[in-house]
Amino acid sequence: MLYAGGVSATTRLYHDDPLLLAFEARVVGHGNWQGKPSLWLDRTAFYPESGGQMADRGSLAGLPIVDVQVDDAEVVHHLVEGPLPALGAEVRGEIDPARRRLHMALHTGQHMLSRALCDVAHADTVSSRLGENACTIDVDRAELDERAVASAEDLVNTVIDDDAVVRAFFPAPAELAALPLRRKPKVDSHIRVVAIGEFDVSPCGGTHCLRTAQVGLVKVTGLERYKGKMRVNFSAGRRAREELSRQSELLHALGRDFTCGPTDVPAAVHKLRRDLVEARESLGEARARLAERAALELLSAARSMGETRVVAAFEAVDIPFLRAVAKRITTEPAFVALLAARVAEGLLVLAARGAQSDFDCGGFLKRIAAAHGGRGGGRPEMAEGRLPSHVDWSPAGLYPFG
Ligand SMILES: [Zn+2]
Repeated sequence: MLYAGGVSATTRLYHDDPLLLAFEARVVGHGNWQGKPSLWLDRTAFYPESGGQMADRGSLAGLPIVDVQVDDAEVVHHLVEGPLPALGAEVRGEIDPARRRLHMALHTGQHMLSRALCDVAHADTVSSRLGENACTIDVDRAELDERAVASAEDLVNTVIDDDAVVRAFFPAPAELAALPLRRKPKVDSHIRVVAIGEFDVSPCGGTHCLRTAQVGLVKVTGLERYKGKMRVNFSAGRRAREELSRQSELLHALGRDFTCGPTDVPAAVHKLRRDLVEARESLGEARARLAERAALELLSAARSMGETRVVAAFEAVDIPFLRAVAKRITTEPAFVALLAARVAEGLLVLAARGAQSDFDCGGFLKRIAAAHGGRGGGRPEMAEGRLPSHVDWSPAGLYPFG
């Protein structure tokens, strides 16, 4: 590993100014982070991944930044695409502004929501994560009342409207001891504190908005149980606006489909569901009538030939139809129904017997399936199966199996 001078902690420019989006710095070392070459600077405005906040992106000496990390010695590692600039070189860094602004909003929103959950729902934050696609706050509660969470969200958005000043500073030990910190610091020296008006004071090293109005909006997007605790999913800033905008577009599109306004979509879905239930009921009734008619025709044909065995294959019917036909046929105690439905995948088959018959339905289908492939089996009274489409489902074809 090469470096100029001793290893010393990188000066973090974003501590004083989270909106410093371009800076000049000197290359003081070539290091590596998990086997990949990294660049050390005397100072940086790039936020390294830490404290649940993702790293910044942007460019350094014109090279795209792919990751920013910090090691135990507080040295910030910049991972870039391309050959590393030489030791001692003066380089310019430019931070991706949209990503930084989003992280500022998410992080400030998280502090406010954690405070509000504490005040309104008596739920203390155990951990939080500001992810690439989703943000979460885990609280030390096994249950959370949805209304309390809605009140917490409302309180946060009121503080956003109030446009309170957000201040980040390094207090002296005496001043720190007097601060009403929401949680204990994770480090024991050089503790940075973020104060959001009079609303919340927390130790944090992240990038935050300068005023609460810059957060724009905080939206709770869901509650879930997680490892015996409750997890609050939330969004803030541009991401919250974009998500709500996408949902609004979806609702409008649904409204166009239903030829109604977006607010009438729930009623339209309710009506559609009711119509579906009614359609299913009348389909069931029609199926029962058709099955009854088919059963009677088959029974009459069998009787005219002195048979008590009904063999039939249907086109374009389903298993519930076969069951209905078989049920009607086997109300005649001596009769056996051997029915099939031709479908794309082969034959759906069913065997059922009346109360006085000793025909073994399960054994019968098992023997056919063993001879032709497919599967079949069940009780002596009733069995179902699926056979290949080449099976000859006629009295002659079924004769060898029982
Ligand atoms: Zn923070």
